[in-house]
Amino acid sequence: MMSSRIALLNNDLTKRRLDGFIVTDPVNVKYLSGFMGHDSVILVTANKNYFFTDSRYVEEAKKGLKAFEVQLVNCSMAKSIAEAAADRKVKRLGFEAMNIPYAVAERLKSSFQNIELVPTTDVIGNLRAVKDRGEITRIKASIKLAKLVMKKVSRMIQPGLTETSIARAVEMEFINEGAKTAFDTIAASGPNSSMPHARAGSRKILANDFVMMDMGCVLDNYCSDITRMFTTGRSSNKYKKICEIVQDAHDIAIKKIKPGVSIADVDAAARDYIKSKGFGTAFGHSLGHGIGLEVHEEPTISGSSAGTLKTGFVFTVEPAIYLPGFGGVRIEDVVLVTDSGCEVLTR
Ligand code: ZN
Ligand code: ZN
Repeated sequence: MMSSRIALLNNDLTKRRLDGFIVTDPVNVKYLSGFMGHDSVILVTANKNYFFTDSRYVEEAKKGLKAFEVQLVNCSMAKSIAEAAADRKVKRLGFEAMNIPYAVAERLKSSFQNIELVPTTDVIGNLRAVKDRGEITRIKASIKLAKLVMKKVSRMIQPGLTETSIARAVEMEFINEGAKTAFDTIAASGPNSSMPHARAGSRKILANDFVMMDMGCVLDNYCSDITRMFTTGRSSNKYKKICEIVQDAHDIAIKKIKPGVSIADVDAAARDYIKSKGFGTAFGHSLGHGIGLEVHEEPTISGSSAGTLKTGFVFTVEPAIYLPGFGGVRIEDVVLVTDSGCEVLTR
């Protein structure tokens, strides 16, 4: 599995005319090597791969990483990488520009004197966007647990309960199952739900109220993310109408999803529908985000996203309408792009 990821990376590097690549983003290091330690850097070249780490991890890395030459870094990481790159006769060396602080980039430049350093973005992010079978299995397991916890905790919702006690219950359920929350659980009731990333607070749920629950866990390194709405007692016609529009926008977007479709068009499908119903300004964020090792990763599903959908993408579809003073409605599912359309994993 790890070696096929490196093979895919090597193909991409050839296209970019790079004969070496430094991986410094810790999640990308994890993705390429399967190694869960920290403070490690990978150097990929055409025919040899290196894993640089310090004395805390070197023994474990040497045992576990067969596709890499594991090197213990004694004094300078940059020097160790530069020596290995020179040894492999690397001429154009890519690095992850979003992940290297300016000061470190300056230091690298002085260590790599005869090697051209080429800034890149999203090289491994784009590989990670397409999930393999093992990843899909793990994401499904993470979602299964999140759904179970959603169901269990939603049964507690009743007048008098505070938002924080809902969020706390979610946290405890995940911990009891050997998982942890992927992000701060959102339990936003009534008018609090108009803030897309509301924090669970001390507001008590009322009779004839509504609650937005947005939660997910990390299980076996993979994330889940689901939003559902719950009500106590009767709901107003306004609330019902908004729910219907958001649900329809969600369904319209999901119907559009299949390989080859422009990502921006999927966002537009939901957004234009909400706009046509008179709530154009009430849906401010993008339609969705990729999910996997991180809760937010490639691909971003927004109007400014370039590119098209590919089989194996896993991302959220989360249209919403937020009305300050009234509250918000969001419905969020995770989909897997298949050869013929998509599978809603959170259904
Ligand atoms: Zn969410
Ligand atoms: Zn989300």
